[in-house]
Amino acid sequence: MREVRYLGDPVLREMCREVETIDDDIRALVDDLLETMYAEDGIGLAAPQIGVPLRVFVYDVREDEIAPGVLVNPRIVEATGKQKEVEGCLSIPGLDEVVERSGQVVVEGLDRDGEPVRIEATGLLSRCLQHENDHLDGVLFIDRVSPLKRRMLLKKWSKTDEAGRQGSS
Ligand code: ZN
Repeated sequence: MREVRYLGDPVLREMCREVETIDDDIRALVDDLLETMYAEDGIGLAAPQIGVPLRVFVYDVREDEIAPGVLVNPRIVEATGKQKEVEGCLSIPGLDEVVERSGQVVVEGLDRDGEPVRIEATGLLSRCLQHENDHLDGVLFIDRVSPLKRRMLLKKWSKTDEAGRQGSS
């Protein structure tokens, strides 16, 4: 398990690099991501959130019919429709806000063995994949709300700053 990086850490704003070779180091990264995601009770976690600027994320939306997954070098190849739901992020604990995203997406990438995968997603899984994919481009959910709401969120964040987060971890 690794330490989750919080808003303000520059690694969260990096444009992450593509993985060139899926080797034991990448598989160890995937294991760390999964362990940290479950420990933090999240439904998804991207590599930059544990300080590694590579295009890798894991997800598990805790629905029986949807298996937990790993995506390396993911690309959203189709996005249709719209959905608006409340969203949060392990890197900005304590904040949540309604975010508008695509309703359905098709995502292609590689699994932990380097095999190609293609995922057609709707609902919560679709939103989760879009949120995690955003992390790989240095984009956070607070970037996808109105400027007014963003100001309110950042104000709340600055109030709950270090002390509160340290105390709750
Ligand atoms: Zn997040």
